[in-house]
Amino acid sequence: QSNYRHLVVGTETKIPIKNGQFISAINFDNAASTPPFVSVMEEINNFSKMYSSIHRGTGYKSKLSSQLFEDARSIILKFVNADPHNDTVIYVKNTTEAINKLSYRLWDGNKKSVILSTWMEHHSNDLPWRNKFQVDYVQTDSLGKLSLENLEYKLNKHKGNVKLVTVTGASNVTGYVNPIHKIAELAHRYQAKILVDGAQLVPHNAVNMKPKNPLQHIDYLVFSAHKMYAPFGIGVLIGPQETFTRGISEFVGGGTAETVTHDWVVWENPPHKEEAGSPNVMGVVALVAAIKTLTALGMRNIDHYENELTNYANTKLSSIPGITLYSHTAQGEPRIGVIPFNIKGIDHEQVATILSNEAGIAVRTGCFCTQPYIQQLLSISPKQMEFYKNNEKAPRPGVVRLSFGLYNDFSEINVLTHLLERIIKHPKTYIN
Ligand code: PMP
Repeated sequence: QSNYRHLVVGTETKIPIKNGQFISAINFDNAASTPPFVSVMEEINNFSKMYSSIHRGTGYKSKLSSQLFEDARSIILKFVNADPHNDTVIYVKNTTEAINKLSYRLWDGNKKSVILSTWMEHHSNDLPWRNKFQVDYVQTDSLGKLSLENLEYKLNKHKGNVKLVTVTGASNVTGYVNPIHKIAELAHRYQAKILVDGAQLVPHNAVNMKPKNPLQHIDYLVFSAHKMYAPFGIGVLIGPQETFTRGISEFVGGGTAETVTHDWVVWENPPHKEEAGSPNVMGVVALVAAIKTLTALGMRNIDHYENELTNYANTKLSSIPGITLYSHTAQGEPRIGVIPFNIKGIDHEQVATILSNEAGIAVRTGCFCTQPYIQQLLSISPKQMEFYKNNEKAPRPGVVRLSFGLYNDFSEINVLTHLLERIIKHPKTYIN
């Protein structure tokens, strides 16, 4: 059993399955969102007694709330070893908003400016860059791993014009962990900056924005609280203060201006200039509580346990004939607990429905907002994609994704693999 199980809310919640039975839910969909830590919910509850509007309030509770909200920035910077003097934390709703915001701040109107994204990116780290920049995509190899040779080739090809290399820290489809410091070094050699999409990496691995070698520094980092055992609605964009002093935020209003007349505006300094409207104070309190719990547990311990879990699941799944795995790592190669697979002859959505109905197992299926990556992993031709484009109702290709959190157990994996074996042996029992 996981030593972390009691730290998370809802692990014993009973849910209905077929024949009106109630059983404990098994959640293998942590890459989408994790359930909150007990400590996070307690902190929210405690803070609610001191809850008040922030920044300009003069009451005791307002002052305390404002202090917590502002002090949280340095806790967040420390968690990822950002530069406490030059980096700033901008609060946003989630990773998607963070990347959109950065795309506006970096937008220079120069048609020659290139953003290097990659084939394995989530749509949130692809679509915001289009229409503002030329976007080129670093290729992945036949196993779906990022090609550093291709990155260097593309940096050379667009020499002098690459503004940013934007890459996920870990894939939400295959679980591959990218060598972000090597990528940073390459990007910096070509005078480009690097953004790491930390949505999947930060909850599972220690992230170090500023290692000893300055060439390997991470310039920008974004992540979401709802994937790290805190609630929805809060995330961060971390980067040099200087990036955000220029230009005007895409959202302006209360909190963003220092002096306003009908004719002119003096904007606040970052980060406040970038945080229009009343902010999500509860969210920040929750995020800090999650960071404190993760830090106390130790990111290395979490990574170690999740790796054991993933290796166990991988070994069991690969011994079941009829299962195709789409993620392959050598022993010791870094990865997070995400496993994509399909069962030969059974549609991915059908597999998910059976897992839920039979054993209360939650997974996710489809393309996980990474359609070009799935097209590559499943070898779907552009011609086939044209067919889907013109046939909205046609069932879409995709895979089943398992994604583990620190509270998942080996015994839960046994329930899953046992059921998968039965489905493969007796498909007619499960598919009508
Ligand atoms: N990037 C990656 C790698 C993700 O997995 C996700 C969430 N699935 C996102 C970005 C977007 O995160 P959010 O929905 O919190 O904005």
